[in-house]
Amino acid sequence: LLRAEGLRKSFGERDVLNGIDLELAQHEVVALIGASGSGKSTLLRCLNLLEPIDDGVILLGDEDISDPRIEANAVRARFGAVFQAYNLFPHLSVLDNVTLASRVVRKEPRRAAEERGIRLLERVGLADKAREHPDRLSGGQQQRAAIVRAIATDPEVLFLDEITSALDPELVGEVLALVRSLAEDGATILMATHEMAFARDVAHRVVFLDGGRIVEQGPPAEVFRAPREDRTRAFLSRFT
Ligand code: ATP
Ligand code: MG
Repeated sequence: LLRAEGLRKSFGERDVLNGIDLELAQHEVVALIGASGSGKSTLLRCLNLLEPIDDGVILLGDEDISDPRIEANAVRARFGAVFQAYNLFPHLSVLDNVTLASRVVRKEPRRAAEERGIRLLERVGLADKAREHPDRLSGGQQQRAAIVRAIATDPEVLFLDEITSALDPELVGEVLALVRSLAEDGATILMATHEMAFARDVAHRVVFLDGGRIVEQGPPAEVFRAPREDRTRAFLSRFT
């Protein structure tokens, strides 16, 4: 569904992505792991067309979305993304956050968008917060609302970047449970995460990034139990 070939990205002198080849199949859940600064967020931002790449190609289906002539906003409307924090617009109600893209980008009538938005919020136990502003929600509720907003437009790929790392530990579970249920429903997800146990349970594949390169990848059971590369082993040993 989504394929990157030979992706390179530098910030000034700093080479952050050094030739990334990565493929994401439909309904696949892939966890990106790696030390801080290894390039996980940059990779997600490049794939999401939030950051221009220096070299390589990105294909969505058979369409080259890294072609500079492409309409980036139209492509991004086919993706959903949730980041570490500050995902919701503070001046809009939760429901308006959730329905904004459907109404503005997809030109869906407000009524239909809101009915769907309420159903999605019900599903994650937030229907009673629909009319509240984000600052009245807990961090975990805000992230669940942000995920609902990201899936409200039925994205082809959902990018999740450390969506639990700003949360108090007792709120992490509710957010991960939601991601798990989306995965079970067949969403296509690429997520950067420090939650190794979650990656092991939910991801079909883990990809270990080190210094802007994919050092190792495979089914979580293999990568976590018997990493082939020294660098993967060294990284994972910090979590046990
Ligand atoms: P973390 O686990 O801490 O989130 P990460 O793997 O997501 O780390 P990135 O955020 O992708 O890492 O950063 C990779 C490198 O690129 C870092 O050295 C970072 O300082 C650098 N970098 C990222 N964004 C920029 C930017 N906009 N300008 C300059 N350097 C950047
Ligand atoms: Mg990051």
